[in-house]
Amino acid sequence: MLHQTNFDSIQSLVKKTAKFYKPFNLFYGNLITSYLTSWNGKRLITEKLSPGIHVISTGDVDDLKNAKVRRALELVKKNQETTMPQDILPTDWRDLFFHLIQVCKDHEPEKDLKGTICRHDKPVKTVASSLFALGNRGVNYSFFWHLVGNPCQASYRDYTQLTRKVAVLQRAPAATSTA
Ligand SMILES: [Zn+2]
Repeated sequence: MLHQTNFDSIQSLVKKTAKFYKPFNLFYGNLITSYLTSWNGKRLITEKLSPGIHVISTGDVDDLKNAKVRRALELVKKNQETTMPQDILPTDWRDLFFHLIQVCKDHEPEKDLKGTICRHDKPVKTVASSLFALGNRGVNYSFFWHLVGNPCQASYRDYTQLTRKVAVLQRAPAATSTA
């Protein structure tokens, strides 16, 4: 999917391959627009997302009937003014990431755990967590942090170099054709 260079090619590839996968939500976008393509095992639906904060879990986007989504929206929107910079600089991403890490580590005090984001109980145990930020000057100004395990126990590692490699791969064909 990372090698697709536009939304049409992503959507075309998903149409051809969705039937081979269990139900999923696929988020993709650029600085101007973003989409969510959902496969429920029978139907493929693509929707354009409005600008702003969204939480995507296993069901519908921003599904307030889902306790986990409701909890995440509440936590992400807390102190939104100070954590969502308008003019993006690398240091601002760091502040935003630290806020989002707190969201990913969240253990709701309720006994039924339905709203808990960092799950330790099978079969819904959290197995990994990723934070990705697309900079306003393109992939070369983006950030990607990832961890394997529970966010409250493991530490995120910086894999930003991987986004730089994707950017180089996407440029390669154009450079070849003009040579
Ligand atoms: Zn935890």
